[in-house]
Amino acid sequence: MRKGGDVPLPVSSAREAGLLKRALAIAGMGYWQSAGPDSQTLWISPELASLYGLATAEGVIAVDAIRGRYLGTAADDLHRGLLLCWSEGLPYRVEGQYRHPDGRVIDLSVHGEAERDAAGRVVAVSGIVRDVSEEKAVLRSFAASEQRLADFISTASDWCWQTDADHRLLPNALPAEKNTAIQTIAAGHVARWDLPYLPEDRDAMARHRADMEAHRPFRAFTYSLIGPGGDKATIRTSGKPVFDENGAFQGYRGTASDVTKRKATEELLARRTTALAEAQRLGRMGSWHYRLGDAQVTWSEELYALTGYDAATLDMSHANILSHFAADDAARLQDMQKQVLKSGGATSADLRFRCADGRVGDFAVNCKADVVAGRIVGVIGLVQDISERKLAHRQLEELAFTDPLTGLANRTQFKRTLTTMVGRALLEDCFGALLLIDLDRFKEVNDSLGHAAGDELLCRVAGLLRQQLGAEAFIARLAGDEFAVLIERPTRHDDMRELADGLIALISGPLDLANGEAFIGATIGIAKLPEDGATTELAMRHADLALSMAKETGRGRCMVFETEYAEAVEQRMILARNLRYAIEQNELHAHYQPQVELATGRVIGFEALLRWTHRERGAISPAEFIPVAESSGIIVDLGLWILREACRQGRAWLDQGLPPRAIAVNVSPAQFWNLDFETAVSAVLAETGLPPHLLCLELTESLFVDQSEHQISRTLGALSALGVRLALDDFGSGYSSLGYLTRLPFDRLKVDRSFVDGVSTQPDKRKLLGGIIALSRGLGMSVVAEGAERPAEVDVLRELGCDVVQGYVYSRPVTPDMAPLVAESIERSPLGEWSRRPARLERALPTVAALTV
Ligand code: C2E
Ligand code: MG
Ligand code: MG
Repeated sequence: MRKGGDVPLPVSSAREAGLLKRALAIAGMGYWQSAGPDSQTLWISPELASLYGLATAEGVIAVDAIRGRYLGTAADDLHRGLLLCWSEGLPYRVEGQYRHPDGRVIDLSVHGEAERDAAGRVVAVSGIVRDVSEEKAVLRSFAASEQRLADFISTASDWCWQTDADHRLLPNALPAEKNTAIQTIAAGHVARWDLPYLPEDRDAMARHRADMEAHRPFRAFTYSLIGPGGDKATIRTSGKPVFDENGAFQGYRGTASDVTKRKATEELLARRTTALAEAQRLGRMGSWHYRLGDAQVTWSEELYALTGYDAATLDMSHANILSHFAADDAARLQDMQKQVLKSGGATSADLRFRCADGRVGDFAVNCKADVVAGRIVGVIGLVQDISERKLAHRQLEELAFTDPLTGLANRTQFKRTLTTMVGRALLEDCFGALLLIDLDRFKEVNDSLGHAAGDELLCRVAGLLRQQLGAEAFIARLAGDEFAVLIERPTRHDDMRELADGLIALISGPLDLANGEAFIGATIGIAKLPEDGATTELAMRHADLALSMAKETGRGRCMVFETEYAEAVEQRMILARNLRYAIEQNELHAHYQPQVELATGRVIGFEALLRWTHRERGAISPAEFIPVAESSGIIVDLGLWILREACRQGRAWLDQGLPPRAIAVNVSPAQFWNLDFETAVSAVLAETGLPPHLLCLELTESLFVDQSEHQISRTLGALSALGVRLALDDFGSGYSSLGYLTRLPFDRLKVDRSFVDGVSTQPDKRKLLGGIIALSRGLGMSVVAEGAERPAEVDVLRELGCDVVQGYVYSRPVTPDMAPLVAESIERSPLGEWSRRPARLERALPTVAALTV
């Protein structure tokens, strides 16, 4: 560096003039001088002449030549400035555009100044002219760019802001905005965190403040302001710090925009999305959609939750999603989708889908065409988890199809299964059997040990059946003590009889129950499938028929259905039809069998027994037609007929002056239950005039089967109150519950023929009979022994203390005309003689045998 540069060198005035000229040229300046306020000329320096592009005469030039080239008001401004400078001595500066003779328009800056004498008078005015075209061009382009920016800003919804180094926002003209909250920012002079913003933005604002105080740039910071009127404005702003050339922090500059509406829309959308997700979660419902042409299916969050799959890992290809459905259901879903794509409609189905944990869940799937602007673009749907509902449904179904006591299938389920099996047996090559199992003596257990024991027994039997038959058989409890078993076998030759006998052996015998020991048995009827059951009804009817046959031939056995049974049933049906007409056709009669009191030898009564003389078949035994009458319900009419007939006859005998003798009439359980029985009896007594104490109603123990003791007791009590006598018939032939005898108002006990038969030769029977007689006497009942055929039997009966004997030994049942004669004949013989000389009967009454049937 040159040391002398700091000290100016001494220069001559000529040299000075030269330097000045050069400086003027470098600065693009020229010099001028005015001769006087009214002078028409100016002196201008050669630099100025060259600047103006005008020729001068020795530097002198006409003022008008110059002024005429200035554009706009500049010429007038120059004139005014020069005059004022001469008159007042005021300096002036005029900037104007000058049309150069070469055609260019240049920007010139004219400066004028007065020169004063010692007295302060203006003696001269001179000045400089400078070419400012370049500066002006820069300024003009700067102004244009500023204008452009201003235009952008004024038309944009955003605005710019800046702060000072203390983060105070500088006042800012915001775009015209009604929002008072925004006007708060425009007012400026506060840091953003000192503005009135929403309390929930506090944390975000604190982080924002930390950013700004650390002079970090920020983007899209969003906060909400509250205006003085309570109106809210949400603002989103971005900014960056500004530093001067020395790195000193100057403040922030940035842009901001009012996103109140957008925020509200965003919030609404977010709320709706959350609500939808929540609703889906609550309803255990997910949604899905599939756009035509897309490789992927889209699921809602809840659908992932429902199925347990991870959104990040599940292969969402259509094929993979389909593969998770149960086989038939995948095809069903595809059909549904095809259908809605074709129709543009909607459809739904319950489908099974394999979830992530391996469980196959039940889902209700809805399918709807996704239609945009009238065009089907895909399929959308809803999926609801209905596993719980299905489970409940299945449980309900199970309840509806299960016997709650034993857990076996119930009748409804049994019928369904039987129908399926019958269908299969017919269509496919398989064979089966339907076994109907009826427990013997179940009622006895129920009555003697109580209902709880009965229930326990049924459960035990169910358990035995299950254990014996295992999974290969379908077991059901149809009602009460009736069970059914369905077995399907590949061959026809399986011996079902053997299997049934096995079951009977298993069930029969003593069973230890909580309340005591029970002895039960079982009877089984079998129908083979398909031959004995082309329909469910036939299979049932045939098995039932086989069961009835087995029961009739003496319980504790099994019978396989045979066509003959059906024929027998057919016969019984014909018989039942004929029996209906028998009353009208007068084919029915009553016969009377005397009852002899051993102590007196008197005939104390007759048992009325029905007789039917069929017009073609002749006499039909009651043993044959009574069961038919009972099963067909005809017994109700028959019973009433014989009751009336017997009472009428009894009254007639009284009217004939014969000694009063009781009339015993048999009553069927069906009569007992089907009619208001006691009313019918009292009506018949009133109608016929038979004294009630001369009517004895004979009831069998079958009455107690499946009837409540309470009901029996009520009707018997009512009959007893009428004065009618009650006898328990056939005692010892069925199950003889002594309980009934102690509780029900029976007057007499009719000991079954089987006890009497052989009593004279078998000591055991004699003992048993002796016991029964002692017991009934103890209970205040008289004893009638039925079916004594031999005098020896009568002897024993007398010894045992039996009251009355009814049997062939005295007489068979005879016609009403014969009955008084027979009675008289019996009574005429010395006490006990009659029975010991049966031959006398034939001699005395040769016609009796002919009259009896
Ligand atoms: P039951 O009421 O026990 O009648 C007695 C049956 O034993 C009668 O048979 C009678 O003829 C027969 N009997 C009497 N003494 C002897 C004998 O010493 N030896 C033999 N072997 N049998 C004897 P019946 O008349 O054939 O009646 C059979 C059953 O039909 C009756 O048995 C009764 O249960 C029923 N029955 C008859 N008539 C009626 C009726 O009007 N209504 C109802 N519901 N049942 C009737
Ligand atoms: Mg009887
Ligand atoms: Mg009897």
